[in-house]
Amino acid sequence: MKKILSVKDLSVNFETYKAEVQAVRKVSFDLHEEETLAIVGESGSGKSVTAQSIMRLIPMPPGKFVSGSIEFNGEDLIEKSEKQMESIRGKEIGMIFQDPMTSLNPTMTIGKQIAEGLIKHQNMSKKEAHLRGVELLKLVGIPNPEKRIKQYPHEFSGGMRQRAMIAIALACNPKILIADEPTTALDVTIQAQILDLMKGLQKETGTAIILITHDLGVVANAAHRVAVMYGGKIVETGSVDEIFYNPRHPYTWGLLGSMPKLDNHDEELKAIPGSPPDLSDPPQGCPFAARCPYAMKACSTQMPEYFELSETQKTACWLLDERAPKVEPPEFVNVGGLKVNG
Ligand code: SF4
Repeated sequence: MKKILSVKDLSVNFETYKAEVQAVRKVSFDLHEEETLAIVGESGSGKSVTAQSIMRLIPMPPGKFVSGSIEFNGEDLIEKSEKQMESIRGKEIGMIFQDPMTSLNPTMTIGKQIAEGLIKHQNMSKKEAHLRGVELLKLVGIPNPEKRIKQYPHEFSGGMRQRAMIAIALACNPKILIADEPTTALDVTIQAQILDLMKGLQKETGTAIILITHDLGVVANAAHRVAVMYGGKIVETGSVDEIFYNPRHPYTWGLLGSMPKLDNHDEELKAIPGSPPDLSDPPQGCPFAARCPYAMKACSTQMPEYFELSETQKTACWLLDERAPKVEPPEFVNVGGLKVNG
């Protein structure tokens, strides 16, 4: 599949009155047509800042790009002016957020909000945009779209608002859809419906998706590839099968261990003890060293390099160095009854 986005060595800092926070540190990944890449990590891992950097939604200042590039269509998005980005956002790259209420305009009907992008980017007339809006609401599974299109966001349920936001994001057939915790605020049944909807739409439209989530459970059924972020860095990346069946980073083991198993509801969840590093003064070595039960002497002084385990799996952990003691993933790292990418 053709590569459509290439993030290379991206570093993003935030100035605070106390210190400069290194939110994203030398992050690199590619995205291909028709693929879903999940970026997973706890809050503060840098996953949302990475996503917002692609859309150039980071307020600057206090944010600033320190290094790297975000190549899209052969051009670096970091170099684009705000005006140029306005024609890329929505048209080429769409975004959906966790809480549609914060991004939907409460004073405008859903129909007007869908039409805005169609009129601006696709040169449609008001009538054409309205008809396309009805089609889009139908596509995302909103019943009675002719009536619903005239309603306001507060007249929609949470799941319906998320569907409407997907319709708005997909209105101009973007090449990339960035979904930042799109199902976190929804109950499990609606969550599954929204993820299925995104999967189905991807098959129809070929849109590549970047799915940002703290929940590995969401990833299993929705993504093709996974990048695990911790302390502003990607610590492990691989296909969804590699991450679930052959994870090699202790942080990925921790995330898998803290995931409820479908086949064992009585089992206690194993939270990862400790808290993420302070990125205003990031550790010199492995960002996970303070919480890692396998940490060795070198871990706190030297940043682990990426070890290539396959064409698709790369892991930044000194345990993979040939001189390190052999450590097997803990017992609890098994995906239980979880269906991966089914
Ligand atoms: Fe743990 Fe060391 Fe690997 Fe970091 S590099 S995850 S501290 S073993």
